[in-house]
Amino acid sequence: MPARTKVVAAGAIILLGPPGAGKGTQAKHLGAKYGVPHISTGDVLRNHIERGTELGLQASGLMRRGLLVPDELLYDMLAERMTHPDCASCVILDGFPRSIAQAEWLDRFLSMRAASDFSSAPIEPVAILINVKQEEILHRLAGRRSCPTCGQVYNLSYRPERTKGLCDFDRTELAVRPDDSEDVIHQRLKVYEKNTLPLAEYYRAKGQLMEIDGNRPVGRVMAETTRAIRRIFA
Ligand code: ADP
Ligand code: AMP
Repeated sequence: MPARTKVVAAGAIILLGPPGAGKGTQAKHLGAKYGVPHISTGDVLRNHIERGTELGLQASGLMRRGLLVPDELLYDMLAERMTHPDCASCVILDGFPRSIAQAEWLDRFLSMRAASDFSSAPIEPVAILINVKQEEILHRLAGRRSCPTCGQVYNLSYRPERTKGLCDFDRTELAVRPDDSEDVIHQRLKVYEKNTLPLAEYYRAKGQLMEIDGNRPVGRVMAETTRAIRRIFA
């Protein structure tokens, strides 16, 4: 199917959900299908850590402990990325916002951008909440493996690599994320419930929330997210 790039009703599509809900998996599919850039703040931060930048140094200890990195470290980086022309009409955000303060920053950013470039770009974001049961989250995160070179994500139970331990695409050795250890997963779930889950109500109250059942296989969840997104695209 050809990519559709015209979006009429959202300045950003936010994938919300607990760690391991499948936000990254869905965001990659949707980005490719609709020709919309996908920004994962977690991936951007991990890239900074790998390159040993100042931002990476400031973020790495917090990420290893499952804590949120300070807002100020994210805003400039996101604002810079979202003013690139490919993000002009829409962007898929995965892992941002993670708090009410971040959601308010995004609202302000989208309004200011629309006002400053006199475009008719939509300014309201739409959030898709992917609901997944806790036992399923724990199972998915325990089995998550990723390729440090190309970012492809695998799962021991659901999406195993063809040759044990090696990426199907570039044969790089697969890695376990340092924050996917059991104690850090519990910490991340606590942070999600305290800081991020209130966003569901924030967007619901503004009529900007859609919810989907993320407990089912990737293809079924994909069909549901696609149905939700068709309502956003022209
Ligand atoms: P998130 O970005 O929300 O943290 P990921 O997309 O990285 O989640 O998915 C977490 C793990 O679960 C990965 O190993 C991925 O392959 C797997 N996964 C994602 N969606 C599903 C699904 N619907 N069913 C089973 N496993 C899934
Ligand atoms: P993720 O890849 O989305 O699971 O994010 C991994 C980690 O990166 C999180 O546990 C946080 O430490 C950090 N992080 C990612 N996005 C944000 C955000 N929007 N706000 C604060 N910290 C973030």
